[in-house]
Amino acid sequence: MLRPHLIIDAPLAALAVAAAPTLGWGPAAAAAVGLSAGIHSLAVAHPRCSLYGRVIWRIPATTTVALTFDDGPDPEVTPHLLDLLAAKSVTATFFLIGANAARYPALVRRIRSEGHGLGLHSMTHSRWFCAWPSARVRRDLEDNRAVLSDLTGEAPPDWFRPPVGLRNPLITRVAADLGLTLLTWTANGRDTQGGTDRAILQRLSPGYIPGGILVLHDGVEPGRGPARTACPRLTAQTLEALNARSLTPGALPSSRGFDDGGRD
Ligand SMILES: [Zn+2]
Repeated sequence: MLRPHLIIDAPLAALAVAAAPTLGWGPAAAAAVGLSAGIHSLAVAHPRCSLYGRVIWRIPATTTVALTFDDGPDPEVTPHLLDLLAAKSVTATFFLIGANAARYPALVRRIRSEGHGLGLHSMTHSRWFCAWPSARVRRDLEDNRAVLSDLTGEAPPDWFRPPVGLRNPLITRVAADLGLTLLTWTANGRDTQGGTDRAILQRLSPGYIPGGILVLHDGVEPGRGPARTACPRLTAQTLEALNARSLTPGALPSSRGFDDGGRD
């Protein structure tokens, strides 16, 4: 857990000391602190940055592109999405919010019975998840696992996508201790932020590559609305775009083989 500080902050501190006779102590320290904050912000938020431990943002290059849906299940949207996926004979992976799963158990069972994969996405999708102490993160993920395994009667999922994809060394460590594999994405439609279908599909397009991982949202955080009713329509358009590129949509593979990350 000290590694990020050793490889980033220690050299910056040394640079500040070296630059101090020229710049003065105040400006040298301020520059080092600013650079450190910038680098650590990137490590928290950038979906491909593994400074805080390995994170999966792409699956092994094949012709498959992983379709993933976050924040569900949702009674207004998820059934239509499942209908579409069934009609197209496509499977996907659903990163479920534990509280939503507990509220709509039949949807969770339907997702599994139709061959889709599941992942953890925290119990309530708190915006403060990344600021929680490790004991609380651990409790939340254990609850998220228990909800899903109780509902499905299966072993809990190994994939874990943190809320908004934000990580820190504590989250990375807890996830590794629980045997979870951290995952972000190749391209996020950011459909939660609105925008036209065209803009959302444009944001997804960098993920139209072999092994790409795409994210759309079929659910909403508990207590927040409105329902993501555009999700099935956006998914249909995404499937067309993948088909035009001879790419095959599908669920994530097993996390086995990816699970060496997070321990540093
Ligand atoms: Zn989410």
